Amino acid sequence: MAQPRYDHSVAGLGEANFEKLRTCKVLVVGAGGIGCELLKNLVLVGCEKLTVVDLDTIDVSNLNRQFLFRKKHVGKSKAEVAGEAIKRFNPNVEVEAIHGNIITNPLFKVDWFRGFDAVINALDNVDARRHVNRMCLAADKPLIEAGTTGFLGQVFCIRKGETACYECFPKPQRVVYPICTIRSTPSQPVHCVVWAKELFKLLFGDASASMLFDDPAAEGEPSSFASACAAVRTTSVDGASKAVGAALAALCDAEVKAQLALGTYKTAKKVPTPLSSPELTDGAASQPPSTITNRPADWDRAVWTAPQCSAEIAEVARELLSNDMKERLGSWEFDKDDEASMRFVAAAANLRCRVFHIDPLSLYEAKGVAGNIVPAIATTNAVVAGLQVLELLRLVEQKCILSEERTSLAEVGRYTYCQRFPTGRKCELLQPVALEGPQPTCYVCRNATIPVALDTNETTLQTFVDVVLKKKLGFIDPAVDKGNSGLVDSEDEGLARNLPLTLAKLPAGGVVNGTLLCVNDFQIDLEVNVEVRHKANKDFDEKANPERVDILTGAAAAPAVATHHDFISQNDENSEPAAKKARH
Ligand SMILES: [Zn+2]
Repeated sequence: MAQPRYDHSVAGLGEANFEKLRTCKVLVVGAGGIGCELLKNLVLVGCEKLTVVDLDTIDVSNLNRQFLFRKKHVGKSKAEVAGEAIKRFNPNVEVEAIHGNIITNPLFKVDWFRGFDAVINALDNVDARRHVNRMCLAADKPLIEAGTTGFLGQVFCIRKGETACYECFPKPQRVVYPICTIRSTPSQPVHCVVWAKELFKLLFGDASASMLFDDPAAEGEPSSFASACAAVRTTSVDGASKAVGAALAALCDAEVKAQLALGTYKTAKKVPTPLSSPELTDGAASQPPSTITNRPADWDRAVWTAPQCSAEIAEVARELLSNDMKERLGSWEFDKDDEASMRFVAAAANLRCRVFHIDPLSLYEAKGVAGNIVPAIATTNAVVAGLQVLELLRLVEQKCILSEERTSLAEVGRYTYCQRFPTGRKCELLQPVALEGPQPTCYVCRNATIPVALDTNETTLQTFVDVVLKKKLGFIDPAVDKGNSGLVDSEDEGLARNLPLTLAKLPAGGVVNGTLLCVNDFQIDLEVNVEVRHKANKDFDEKANPERVDILTGAAAAPAVATHHDFISQNDENSEPAAKKARH
């Protein structure tokens, strides 16, 4: 007999279906923005057999939306803390919390996936998503996938042979930036723009939410710039120039020297150079080159000098600290269309670029870069996680799982889009449509042959394995055969001598235009044919395609995205192209 705490679910599902839901073994992959919501929802509807996997530890920057975590949990395992938190919601819940990498941890084999009734993804990167997709196809388990991009999101189900899989449609590229890249090792202008936005937040916005904020409760010395930055907030308009000069000197000079002394950049390719403190403080004390109303025509297209940047930042500070703006102090949010905050970010990013020997940007260029960064919206995560649980209830009710007869997901599953503005015939914010079937061009769920164009005379077998098979096609440990002869096999040491050879020089006649290779990976239970097409290196656009490889199938068009232990946001690479939506 169900307990009163489950009355609401029993009323909705009926006793028999609720009992299935209660004992349904659910794997949740990811305990971040979507994962926290999802785990809470699952416990509240009555799921009692949960497993959660996440490789991340909790960062201060997670606390604004990953509500199962508190300040005291910073540095601890997300999976473990989330597991403890939901047990407090309902002590009947059996949670197995695993701190580990779903892709590389040897525990997570196909057989392990077979032990669950349903798998729910709460991930933030393409690599992990396509891996779980492949494992669920191999294990023949339903996968409830979701993703968010700012206000947009989507939820859909995947099952082998019944629906399109995660890799049936190409994914547009969007990159996420690891926090350590932003705080310590920027290598591109965009890293400096992100850093400048975080500095803006530290000085004028919600400081404790900034990536540059040092939690006073955390162990270790605070950064050398912490007190100088805090002083900017509390100073008067008259003191602004001096305070800004001191903060910039601390950030771009003292902190860089401190990090150099600590050996942070011992193994770095490029070692940063501190800027001159007097140049920064003098710059801040001077008036900007011209007032807002009287700037030269090209001021936003010119790259400002370091003292000019200092002067611009001081002027923005004077503006934001002035009496009529003062009440917004502590709640300012960067907006690329807000003149003052954009000027601040352009100038601060410019200084940061100079420290790390990156070509600095003009305000105009910085605005373009800043505009492409999508923030994570907690509400969208909540909506999406709620929809995922509704899909799980549907799977139980419609006998797609835990039933002798098995209903195809193609009949009952839904692909639901979350829109920012009401659209469509009924003007709904949530738009459910029928699921697509498996796509014949998909090499993952339909074993379609993958045409790959590259220079067979220049590309080595090693590059083919690393770039084409592992990076672009997502294989973990591929074995490659040409007809009956093996070319690559990590368990056959004799074949290692093939790796430095170019494809055309390989044994058994070489791999040339038109060669068909069989690629097999036992770890993900996937075997596909790769058709090699010769395309001379000189025929590639080196800027757009520096690796000089074309994967000529829709499913593999998405390049791999950096995986890392920390992400700024849930920024998601999962949005579908407009063309697909238009078909419904
Ligand atoms: Zn597919």
